Amino acid sequence: MARIVVVGSGIVGLAVARQLAGRGDDVIVLEKEPRIAQHQTGRNSGVIHSGLYYPPGSAKARMSVAGARSMTRYAQERGVAVETCGKLVVATDESEIARLHVLAERATANGVPARLISATEARESEPEVSCVAALRVESTGIVDYPGVCEAMVADLLAAGAELRLGESFDSARTEHGSIVVETSSGRLTVDALVNCAGLHADRIAAACSVDPGARIVPFRGEYFELVPERRSLVRGLIYPVPDPRFPFLGVHLTRSVTGEVHAGPNAVLALAREGYTWTDFRAADVADALSWPGTWRLGVRNIVPGAREVVRSLSRAAFARSLARLVPGITAKDLVPAPAGVRAQALRADGQLVDDFLVRSAPHQVHVINAPSPAATSALEIADHVVRQLDEVVAA
Ligand SMILES: Cc1cc2nc3c(=O)[nH]c(=O)nc-3n(C[C@H](O)[C@H](O)[C@H](O)COP(=O)(O)OP(=O)(O)OC[C@H]3O[C@@H](n4cnc5c(N)ncnc54)[C@H](O)[C@@H]3O)c2cc1C
Repeated sequence: MARIVVVGSGIVGLAVARQLAGRGDDVIVLEKEPRIAQHQTGRNSGVIHSGLYYPPGSAKARMSVAGARSMTRYAQERGVAVETCGKLVVATDESEIARLHVLAERATANGVPARLISATEARESEPEVSCVAALRVESTGIVDYPGVCEAMVADLLAAGAELRLGESFDSARTEHGSIVVETSSGRLTVDALVNCAGLHADRIAAACSVDPGARIVPFRGEYFELVPERRSLVRGLIYPVPDPRFPFLGVHLTRSVTGEVHAGPNAVLALAREGYTWTDFRAADVADALSWPGTWRLGVRNIVPGAREVVRSLSRAAFARSLARLVPGITAKDLVPAPAGVRAQALRADGQLVDDFLVRSAPHQVHVINAPSPAATSALEIADHVVRQLDEVVAA
């Protein structure tokens, strides 16, 4: 039995803590906020991704395919709202058909059940959609992620773990084979540390003298919601064919387990790591992003699409036009703003986004540096991987 501190009570930290506590370790979860899951986990699309998009053999592909099953099973077992409703990826004109076929091949390579269908068949499940062809993916689902987190907290507390809300990690050092952790409330001496701090994961690694190998750049994803009387325009989940040059999926339409229809998220650089609006500005976060050479390299390469995202962020009409490509009946009048989320995306110094999940270890420490989408889907699989890594670095 080891005494282990887990930093962060998003879905990844809670899944790790639950697994460690469940096998008998003495676990303390540190969370700087007064409540669990206040950042990425509590502000996402609520989708259980099938594993369709990711390069075959990548951690994202493996852990998303397995995670879609394990997350659905966990939610069902714990009475959390979940539904395997499937989704449509729609080609809105002929120029997107070749990319739709590439996506279908990738689905096959990843073992994801997906089928190319005609526009007529697509309209049988989504009567308001506009497309020339579509990919129907059966294993995509929707779930109440905050509900999953509450179930995980119940599990870890039942197994004897301690959840310290409102206590932040400050720094850590290794002393005689133990780790001495300084927190906002005092000092802890533990056998091992796991960093699942999402938007702050790179800083926490650095505060443990571990090179994160990348910097977290915050990309805000803004959402609208369809007004209740227009929700009938969308029955399930409707996605565009993603542009392979960009890391995000493009604004899409998703029905939640409680029946609302969300539209978004777009992707704009946030002016604070937890910057949920244009007026949330934190000089230290902006300086961090601008002093990283990768940010400039990424910006120069993506100046046109980046500007387009800013326009869509500032203009509801532009946002509505993107949605109307998928469902022509949607207009700006049908949209009301909904809370935004901020993605923690790791960026290398050369300007390349870290595509896959990135976990780094050091003696007695494991750091989850890059866990963007589909990390909520994959949380139980990431936890399994992190616990195995931890066992290796503790035994070494
Ligand atoms: C807009 C958006 C849409 C998304 N949609 C989906 C989706 O539909 N499906 C999907 O699978 N994934 C989706 N994702 C991705 C998914 O939400 C994240 O990958 C996942 O939630 C990451 O969880 P986490 O625990 O790593 O991070 P977080 O949920 O961000 O948790 C990190 C926690 O660490 C805490 N913390 C940070 N610093 C400290 C410190 N110093 N001391 C103590 N605590 C600290 C934070 O307060 C926070 O609670 C989406 C993400 C966004 C932003």
